[in-house]
Amino acid sequence: MTTAKALIDLRSDTVTLPCEGMRNAMRQAILGDDVYGEDPTVRELEETLAAMTGKEAGLFLPTGTQSNLCALLAHCERGDEYIAGQAAHLYRYEGGGAAVLGGIQPQPVENSQDGSLDLNLVASVVKPLDFHFARTKLLCLENTMQGRVLSLSYLQSLKPFAQSHGLQLHLDGARLFNAAIACGASLAELTHMFDSVSICLSKGLGAPAGSVLVGHSSVIATARRWRKVLGGGMRQSGVLAAAGLYALRHNVDRLAEDHARARTLADGLRALGLAVEPVQTNMVHVNCSAFDLSRLSGRLLERGVMMNPASRLRLVTHLGIDDEAVEKVLLAFQSSI
Ligand SMILES: *Cc1c(COP(=O)(O)O)cnc(C)c1O
Repeated sequence: MTTAKALIDLRSDTVTLPCEGMRNAMRQAILGDDVYGEDPTVRELEETLAAMTGKEAGLFLPTGTQSNLCALLAHCERGDEYIAGQAAHLYRYEGGGAAVLGGIQPQPVENSQDGSLDLNLVASVVKPLDFHFARTKLLCLENTMQGRVLSLSYLQSLKPFAQSHGLQLHLDGARLFNAAIACGASLAELTHMFDSVSICLSKGLGAPAGSVLVGHSSVIATARRWRKVLGGGMRQSGVLAAAGLYALRHNVDRLAEDHARARTLADGLRALGLAVEPVQTNMVHVNCSAFDLSRLSGRLLERGVMMNPASRLRLVTHLGIDDEAVEKVLLAFQSSI
């Protein structure tokens, strides 16, 4: 186990390290060649997540980026278009992969305050069927969206909307389990309206790598082909899938602890006079000026606390952050602001 123990790393829940139990599960995994469809551990993981989300099939991929990209390539052809939020990870933070590799045009629209996309706004950018236009095929949502949870009533409005506009629905559910824990819903309640859903195992669930794309079997069969094309066909990847299965068994319910610690952090920072946005899951966002941001993050780093100073300060709780770490972070803030 190698980690700079002195540092409290709040940059992201991707920094989590596999625990001893997870490493043992990886060591003991029964393996085969997954490109031949012969790795029983990968199949178990794919089937488990498909069952949990009420989908027909699943596909294990090395990253969430490749999972979203395979979904986009499965839903859209060259000259088609997908609609996504301006702040959507798959539009903004994945190198424009769908355009680069698929000839698929993005149509971004502004995200609402709660992370959703205003369906009137979406309707206004759906193109008519006319050869002047790209063919609008797919609407993409994200849940959680920068820590915010899409409401059940909003999710329920998506299916009739998509049907009336002839759109497919994809969900980037990198942190879907955080959303489910936060609103006390089952995964299926959050996903039944979507044709495909991408779920990350390498975020708060604590696996070292891996995402699973679930959906209709025809979508997954096409995505499986694209995974091979993109170089994501792995061989004895059950060694990674075993970590994912371990995470599903041991690290889902404990996400509630991350959410509670994020709220404690937020309350403490507000008490210090900082402008903290409401917390719903494991992310705390602090609004401050660009000057304050870089000065503050520098001073915090001197006190052993790492976080992401993007357009606002972001603190992410995860399984490497305990109550003692939360206290230390608040003390570090107290002496840094
Ligand atoms: C992390 C993340 C992804 C995928 O990221 P990878 O680093 O490629 O696994 C996709 N969407 C969201 C919202 C994410 O946070």
